[in-house]
Amino acid sequence: ISSLEPAEDHRICVCVRKRPLNERENTMKDLDIITIPSHNVVTVHESKQKVDLTRYLENQTFCFDHAFDDTASNELVYQFTARPLVESIFRKGMATCFAYGQTGSGKTHTMGGAFSGKAQDCSKGIYALVAQDVFLLLRNPAYEKLELKVYGTFFEIYGGKVYDLLNWKKKLQVLEDGNQQVQVVGLQEQEVSCVEEVLTLVELGNSCRTSGQTSVNAHSSRSHAVFQLILKSGGKLHGKFSLVDLAGNERGADTAKANRKRQLEGAEINKSLLALKECIRALGKNKSHTPFRASKLTQVLRDSFIGQNSSTCMIATISPGMTSCENTLNTLRYANRVKEL
Ligand code: ADP
Ligand code: MG
Repeated sequence: ISSLEPAEDHRICVCVRKRPLNERENTMKDLDIITIPSHNVVTVHESKQKVDLTRYLENQTFCFDHAFDDTASNELVYQFTARPLVESIFRKGMATCFAYGQTGSGKTHTMGGAFSGKAQDCSKGIYALVAQDVFLLLRNPAYEKLELKVYGTFFEIYGGKVYDLLNWKKKLQVLEDGNQQVQVVGLQEQEVSCVEEVLTLVELGNSCRTSGQTSVNAHSSRSHAVFQLILKSGGKLHGKFSLVDLAGNERGADTAKANRKRQLEGAEINKSLLALKECIRALGKNKSHTPFRASKLTQVLRDSFIGQNSSTCMIATISPGMTSCENTLNTLRYANRVKEL
């Protein structure tokens, strides 16, 4: 897999994944307005109305590193996004993969953080696929002698606060020391030695994430979930892969009439997603200043944005339906901005 490592100037990869129309959309006869005419192009066929009320389609085309249609498997998406980054953490790199998109567009499906109740039922998502390759590389003669150990962490950022999903949602403080090193104080790091143990951690974290919630999506859509696989050598940090299931990016209509709590949540999410965009862009430009302090999300991910050895991929997930058009266009525009150097 070493041949798949990103080149120096390809430290940001931005891809789009379209999911199939779901049952609800099919029932309401929602139309699929997204086509993927080639492996890196997405076209949105937006339905518009003329003054004389006749309808026409306005096509908007976006280019990315890769575009996946609704037949793509998690494995395929993984091959082109997170997989090329895995080996970098064995070379003291910091790799990060973000799932970005509207609630219900497939972020959690892609990452593989769905709660099934049984670890072995968990269909393999990016969490498991990264873990699989990490354990494979661990036995590679080139890295065996480093005597690396693997640890998992899983936490959630909600309303600008960090909660440990491996420790009953304990609220954690984030501290920055004199050398600008950011620390999530007391974050549980669980040693893992095989994929099954990683999946068990993910299950534990997911059950913790949604406990006391009426619906899985109601809560997860308003928080960022960060799952990390950390390599340590002699107790010291060697490399880290952060996998981030971001809060839903949809805002607007429902926020306007929502209560104050929802509005504050929305403002916090907006702030963090804007900060994230700026930090990734700064990484691509090798800028000396990265505004990672602008949000808790970017602050705890500081390592991902600083240094020559950081690489990032983003999977922007989109719903195919006409009813999601506005959100889909927003997602594509955001992803486009992240990619633009
Ligand atoms: P999000 O995390 O972005 O809110 P989910 O991952 O929970 O969205 O997806 C919403 C629903 O759509 C889930 O039932 C999920 O299984 C389904 N889904 C999402 N992406 C796909 C896909 N690529 N193929 C099939 N089903 C999908
Ligand atoms: Mg989700």
